[in-house]
Amino acid sequence: MYDTLIIGSGPAGMTAALYAARSNLKVGLIEQGAPGGQMNNTSEIENYPGYDHISGPELSMKMYEPLEKFQVENIYGIVQKVEDDGEGKVKRVITEDATYEAKTVVVATGAKNSLLGVPGEEEFTSRGVSYCAVCDGAFFRDQDLLVVGGGDSAVEEAIYLTQFAKSVTIIHRRDQLRAQKVIQDRAFANEKIKFIWDSVVTEIKGDDVKVSGVTIKNVKTGEVTEKSFGGIFIYVGMNPVSSMVADLGITDETGWIITDTDMKTSRPGIFTIGDVRQKDLRQIATAVGEGAIAGQGVYQYIVEHF
Ligand code: FAD
Ligand code: NAP
Repeated sequence: MYDTLIIGSGPAGMTAALYAARSNLKVGLIEQGAPGGQMNNTSEIENYPGYDHISGPELSMKMYEPLEKFQVENIYGIVQKVEDDGEGKVKRVITEDATYEAKTVVVATGAKNSLLGVPGEEEFTSRGVSYCAVCDGAFFRDQDLLVVGGGDSAVEEAIYLTQFAKSVTIIHRRDQLRAQKVIQDRAFANEKIKFIWDSVVTEIKGDDVKVSGVTIKNVKTGEVTEKSFGGIFIYVGMNPVSSMVADLGITDETGWIITDTDMKTSRPGIFTIGDVRQKDLRQIATAVGEGAIAGQGVYQYIVEHF
């Protein structure tokens, strides 16, 4: 039996693993993809203390490397369910092909992109519609691109795309961006970036091969227009990845997991950290801080209960 099983090796999960392993616990870190989580989807990180700037994949590897030294066991798997014995002792973590037992569980499964939910989105995903500029941007050299959304992700990734694109248009449903001021200022100063304000995409269009453009509606005037784009990048927010704990009664009505300030859920021995928590600030720095608290928390829990 593991002392702790941590689900997800984003910055939150990797930090929890490091802290728990340094307390000499038997730690399993279950991940369905590459270590780093959402950090792998961004080219430039400029607000993680200690680095002037660093790429997401590079920071991911720097967080991952020490885990081997402290004998964290990396387990590949897609977790489908977490079960609790109801007495605060044995937890079961069930993947597609195995069941693992642990004294404690840390849920660090993060968040994933919301869909825009308009006709054509699903049809043209990977055929001109993308949710990851870092992964796909280079395929769109010299094209006119559209970025949907007004938050940090949309504006930051629009700036990133200007290195490949002929032009990048940000379409936002209001007349003010949500992104941090420093990111906004950089976008406003970039000659390749244009804005369409107070407007939403109502349909994504294309031919048999790929995207060709969108239908746009101005929400103030009601005016409908058609515009041509070679690619569409969608950044309209995030959804929690918490279906594996849906039966445990630890989420709010939209799926974000509720914890106290020690990262404890209402289920004894089940902790939650990072973006999947119900909270205001979803950042690498907050994920890492919560990982440290949970890593120490599982140690305390085991000392007190086993
Ligand atoms: P995540 O990074 O989401 O990691 C969760 C991990 O859990 C993933 O690896 C996932 O594969 C795994 N997982 C999920 N479900 C399962 C399952 N069922 N089974 C197994 N594994 C599972 N923040 C900053 O501070 N600075 C930035 O510059 C910055 N830029 C960003 C740019 C973009 C485009 C995006 C999308 C986000 C950015 N962020 C930035 C936010 C930051 O990346 C997140 O706040 C942070 O990664 C959250 O960490 P996490 O560990 O909670 O979750
Ligand atoms: P976000 O902050 O929730 O922003 C989503 C944007 O999409 C908002 O501008 C929202 O409009 C818009 N939107 C939502 N639904 C829409 C719809 N149906 N149609 C059109 N527009 C829609 O999401 P995010 O930008 O992905 O950021 C997620 C988290 O990661 C945030 O906490 C963010 O701070 C963090 N992050 C940080 C950095 C960084 O620090 N450098 C970079 C990226 C992400 P409204 O503004 O009108 O609500």
